[in-house]
Amino acid sequence: MSAVPVAVRTHAVAARCVFDGVKRHKDAAVVIEDGRIIAVTARADVPKILPLCELPETAWLVPGFIDIQVNGGGDVLFNDAPTLQAIRAIVAAHRRFGTTTLLPTLISDSLEKMKAAIAAVDTVVGVEPSILGIHLEGPFLSPEKAGVHDRRAIRAPTADDLALLRRPRRGVTLVTLAPEQVPARFISKLAVAGVRLSLGHSMATYAETVAAMAAGLTGFTHLFNAMRPLSSREPGPIAAALESPNAWYGLIADGIHVAPAMLRLATRGLGHPILVTDAMPPVGGSRASFVLNDETVVMKDGRCARADGTLAGTCLDMATAIRNCVRWLDVPLTDALRFASTHPAEFLGLGDRFGKLAPEFRADMVALDGATIEVLRTWVAGRTQ
Ligand SMILES: [Zn+2]
Repeated sequence: MSAVPVAVRTHAVAARCVFDGVKRHKDAAVVIEDGRIIAVTARADVPKILPLCELPETAWLVPGFIDIQVNGGGDVLFNDAPTLQAIRAIVAAHRRFGTTTLLPTLISDSLEKMKAAIAAVDTVVGVEPSILGIHLEGPFLSPEKAGVHDRRAIRAPTADDLALLRRPRRGVTLVTLAPEQVPARFISKLAVAGVRLSLGHSMATYAETVAAMAAGLTGFTHLFNAMRPLSSREPGPIAAALESPNAWYGLIADGIHVAPAMLRLATRGLGHPILVTDAMPPVGGSRASFVLNDETVVMKDGRCARADGTLAGTCLDMATAIRNCVRWLDVPLTDALRFASTHPAEFLGLGDRFGKLAPEFRADMVALDGATIEVLRTWVAGRTQ
């Protein structure tokens, strides 16, 4: 995949249904200039001289999917190789499933690996249009809820970590942490620096979660998984997330990590659901196994797990997550599409440029079959493959 071109001719893409992230437009077209959307208009109003791509009758044209939690894809694990080449392989693997932008996600690792991953992403942001920044999942987590994270890598943050994380950079920095494992002002210092903070792999109580949210934490990483469960006298982080209109929660809609009834509960909360894949190398790849923290993880029957049965991410892609959401959660396709584009863009503070089809937004788009929810084609910054 190449960088955004210096100049692209004005062109348009028309569909029977254009969903702009807010509402559906019948027989409409998106007009694109230099990788940006300049208009969403009636198909009949597209000037005749403009090159026009007409999508098949059953196709919907929708905002590109934004995946904020991608550990790997195309047989590549980001932790193994935080390099430009690896990042491009991951991007290409996920693009076929409609993901037009993503955050490479580093699972808890050494400070050296964190620095290498951040440096690699810093180099790529602005060059590779599908990379919005980085997601550091850990290492400031609860050992009690480590899941597949290496307990040896889990630790308390140091002054060096704080300096590294709040250094200004072009891309987004998202950090998943356990609020009860970090010093009191760590969250507010990062939030003030523009870092997005998400609770995950945590045993935080309800009170600790509310305090973290008051300090600037807004996200919940794979809600329900690897966190203190809901219970009558200690509601924990899940209750705090579901009752707050300022909460954004990632959901893994693979039917393995979370029961559909729990996902339905999340869609009925006051917060904003975000579909994530938490994908591992087999997504868009050819190999059914990989190595994580010196242990082999095998993909079988739709799950990625270690020999001891511990789930290790997923083999889920975004199109499947959306399809599952529609089938299991009793939500319309338009809502599921918002969970995959508009909501993650807003959570990352990029809601004025990504996640919708509207003037001034980047032309990141997906054509999908409205009935089967299969991806037909993608555009990143106006360019199709
Ligand atoms: Zn996790």
